[in-house]
Amino acid sequence: MIQVKNSMQLNAMKEAGRITGETLLVARELVRPGISTKQLDDAIRAYIEKCGAKPSFLGYHGFPGSACISINDEVIHGIPSAKRFLQEGDIVKIDVGACIGGYHGDSARTIPVGRVSDEAMQLIKATRDSFFAGAKMAVAGNRIGDIGSAISESVSPYGYGVVREFIGHGIGRNVHEEPDVPNYGTAGRGVRLCNGMTLAIEPMINLGTAKVIMLPDGWTVKTADGKLSAHYENTVAITPEGVQILTLIDNDF
Ligand code: MG
Ligand code: MG
Repeated sequence: MIQVKNSMQLNAMKEAGRITGETLLVARELVRPGISTKQLDDAIRAYIEKCGAKPSFLGYHGFPGSACISINDEVIHGIPSAKRFLQEGDIVKIDVGACIGGYHGDSARTIPVGRVSDEAMQLIKATRDSFFAGAKMAVAGNRIGDIGSAISESVSPYGYGVVREFIGHGIGRNVHEEPDVPNYGTAGRGVRLCNGMTLAIEPMINLGTAKVIMLPDGWTVKTADGKLSAHYENTVAITPEGVQILTLIDNDF
């Protein structure tokens, strides 16, 4: 069942969203060649806890980190590791969730490590742009398919692969709630959107094939062809005033 939030619940979602968004800003400042993904994860956990919140992902289905940190051809769900170090030219995806007052925020960014290829920068930018193309459709009266079709149409000129096995989702008291929010779809189809819905819209876009594989660790999802992948996610609320992006703190990030 889709949980529609009242104004009090939306205020709680805003608080969770703000902390989640701020945490990504803290992480961004630390991204540099030589830092381990565990060091990033430790800083992320420390900031979330300093805010009086809890990392949503820590222990979720047994996930061992506070953030999912995925490098280059890893799409999502990378496990933070003290043995994994960022290198110049990498792109790193940091996916964070924070829970406060019983409500969750969920947001991800793809960050270049030092100087990266033009190809990588274009992928990062196009993935971000596709989020906004999708989010623009998140208004009452539209349907879920309007979001997904806007996302996939936004990246189709580039020939990128749109990941299908993993998708966005409703969010609230649980990190993952109904409805599913695919990054593909048919305009005018699917669940009708209404005010008070809160969604995590999260395009995962691959430079090459859309196909992904799971690593033997049971978590890390990577591209089947080993090419780069980018991820951009925000928690949004559908309101009578239009879509509100709860985890967007720096409008340029
Ligand atoms: Mg996420
Ligand atoms: Mg999510």
